[in-house]
Amino acid sequence: MAWFKKTRKPRAAAPEKSSRVPEGLWVKCPRCAQIIYNKDLAASLMVCPKCAYHHRLAAAERLRILFDDGAWEEFDRELVSTDPLKFVDTRPYRDRLAAGIATTGLRDAIIVGEGRLDGIRAIVGAMEYGFIGGSMGVVMGEKITRALERAVNHRLPVIIVSCSGGARMMEGALSLMQMAKICAALARLDRERLPYLSILTDPTTGGVTASFAMLGDLNIAEPGALIGFAGPRVIEQTIRQKLPEGFQRSEFLLEHGMLDLIVDRRELKSVLARGLRFMGCTGQDSEAKTP
Ligand SMILES: [Zn+2]
Repeated sequence: MAWFKKTRKPRAAAPEKSSRVPEGLWVKCPRCAQIIYNKDLAASLMVCPKCAYHHRLAAAERLRILFDDGAWEEFDRELVSTDPLKFVDTRPYRDRLAAGIATTGLRDAIIVGEGRLDGIRAIVGAMEYGFIGGSMGVVMGEKITRALERAVNHRLPVIIVSCSGGARMMEGALSLMQMAKICAALARLDRERLPYLSILTDPTTGGVTASFAMLGDLNIAEPGALIGFAGPRVIEQTIRQKLPEGFQRSEFLLEHGMLDLIVDRRELKSVLARGLRFMGCTGQDSEAKTP
């Protein structure tokens, strides 16, 4: 017989009172567990005021932060994937597309637009992670390529903010071809001596890392972002070795020469403007200088 015995039954848990605080008003930081007022978080560009954890940003929000007065002209908004392989996994790709369109209000996982960044005319593309993990299919490839061609025609610099799980497997080899297509367009931009700045945010993986995200004249990452090709678990299983601490995070990549800079989101715009000016884009006459 046990020495101690509970003679009384534990009191039943009080029925959970419904909170009077409306949902979405407070956010808990996943790193420091600080409870943050939503408006304060938005005011600091979704960076935790306490520990500087960078929360993920929606594509439209990203452009609003970067462009002067939050204003830009959007290109190729109407492009939408045609599901060329009629792909079905756990659910049809067509349904996934419809769900992505319904939840984000976008037609695919990137917004491309032209506006001014601290007075400098530039084309900026920002990826939307909420749309099938920011994956790169035919539409994203086409939108980025068109943006690069437009940049060549109008002599403008290009900035692409990556936030992507990689190539969109539901479009098979067609999605992989976008890597080569975008890189070819980037080579033309390079021949025209126009700047391309790549911003890597959490996460930037797979075919996006393996192509244009690593090809910037400056490769700039946000702090603590996951950046890699294959995921750590896959690598560990393949090479049968334990991976080092912080592997595939921005800081680790900077230390090993894969990145040029890590920039806090609150300073990103001014750093980009400085970079563009350094590369010959002037604010006032609005066009990049011809060499
Ligand atoms: Zn925090």
